[in-house]
Amino acid sequence: MTEFTSDSIGCPIADRLHLIRANIPPEVKLVAVSKYTTTDAVRAAYAAGIRNFGESRVQDSKIKQTELADLADITWHMIGSLQSNKARQAIAQFDWIHSIDRLSLAEQCDRLIQELGKSPKLLLQVKLAEDPNKSGWTEAELLADLPELKKLQNLNIVGLMSILPLGLSEAQAYEVFESVGKLAAKLRSLGWNNIQELSMGMSADYAIAVKAGATMIRVGSQIFGVAPIHNDREK
Ligand SMILES: *Cc1c(COP(=O)(O)O)cnc(C)c1O
Repeated sequence: MTEFTSDSIGCPIADRLHLIRANIPPEVKLVAVSKYTTTDAVRAAYAAGIRNFGESRVQDSKIKQTELADLADITWHMIGSLQSNKARQAIAQFDWIHSIDRLSLAEQCDRLIQELGKSPKLLLQVKLAEDPNKSGWTEAELLADLPELKKLQNLNIVGLMSILPLGLSEAQAYEVFESVGKLAAKLRSLGWNNIQELSMGMSADYAIAVKAGATMIRVGSQIFGVAPIHNDREK
């Protein structure tokens, strides 16, 4: 795992990005999670070559996206839990949504995509380890919902996303990440051939996630520093 030693703290964002990049294969997409940081820090990461940015609140990210409109080739990823009343805005604003975590949200997105004529790439958020604090389909729930999901022809579902519960050992984390990949393979064998992306791994566990087959990692604090508040819920 990449660990920042004390002398890397205060390092420019570019140096941190180099360290992470050096640790992951080039084909793994690095989503820089900018939810707690400033637009200046986003610009620094952009200057260092990052084009994928992740946000967890629809309204905060709107402000950022407006200020950064001159950086026209940024791909914006919605990674936070999405309330129904924010779905319209999320579809309008984001290129990817990683957090489709329930059938009712999928159905709503299907209608909105038709209406808005904009179709972001979608990931289904799964929860393959017990975690009272996170949402997402269990494997059984997702398999049960597949027939209904299949009917939603406007959705561009390209993969799975997962967030691990806190406090797992490395071996446990690897096992859970691996099970996400196995579920994706199972879905492909059932005809869901577009389920190719695995969005998994954050600052603390991205190296394990990559070993277990992640195609995209979502890294915030290891790039931008640790944020004072950790509250992903929309106000
Ligand atoms: C905040 C967040 C991240 C990034 O977390 P870090 O530990 O700061 O890297 C990744 N994924 C999701 C869903 C998040 O909400």
